[in-house]
Amino acid sequence: MGRATSQAGLVIRLERLVVGYLDTNCWIIAPDLPGRPPALIVDPGDDPDYLAAAAASYEVVGVLLTHAHADHVLALTALAESLNAPIIGHPAEREVWAAELDHLKRHGYLDAGTATAGLVANGQAPRPTPGIPLWDGHLDQEITTPTTISLGPLDVQIIPTPGHSPGSLSLYADGHLFTGDTLFPGGPGLTSPDYPLTDFPAIMQSVRTLLTHPPETTIHPGHGPDTTVGTELPYVETWQTRGW
Ligand SMILES: [Zn+2]
Ligand SMILES: [Zn+2]
Repeated sequence: MGRATSQAGLVIRLERLVVGYLDTNCWIIAPDLPGRPPALIVDPGDDPDYLAAAAASYEVVGVLLTHAHADHVLALTALAESLNAPIIGHPAEREVWAAELDHLKRHGYLDAGTATAGLVANGQAPRPTPGIPLWDGHLDQEITTPTTISLGPLDVQIIPTPGHSPGSLSLYADGHLFTGDTLFPGGPGLTSPDYPLTDFPAIMQSVRTLLTHPPETTIHPGHGPDTTVGTELPYVETWQTRGW
């Protein structure tokens, strides 16, 4: 759990819960208020019981997917049902999820991008956990343009950032960016002619938009450690030139 004081004196409360076969960062975002503050859960990648237990300290107002690669959504339906919380995402991600299910049907395991071959070679081919219902593509709230969701006094901006997938979303709240698989320490997330529905020019446009936030802004990616806008900004032209 982390706390950070904002310019306005508000304190944001963050919990990072690492789940699933690619160690996805699932986030709980809330204002640091007593009792059960309103919260958003971002990217319930797997392990719905673990996430539901953590969520019990909050009044969960929504479960949001940054995008619909399997490592970000395997617990989505189970968690949303157990919390009776709406599912929030971009409708373009239905096509991404359909491609994931198609890969599972044709190959017997999920496509985890560049990590897939290594996981398969280690006998850890990514598959859904038996007994956990798969997402059916339903969204209770569709986000296609910049949208603010208020958690009591804490405004969370939802920002469409296409490229890693057509409906990728990032979030900004109180000095913190949550970038899904759009931006990591060292560059943008995976785009490749070999990986369906990705778009390098689009992700670079999205990365440039995210990096207009102040240099001290913390970046929380969908996997692995944090970075800051100021750390990454000097390398944008290097990423553009190398093409990935
Ligand atoms: Zn992804
Ligand atoms: Zn991911």
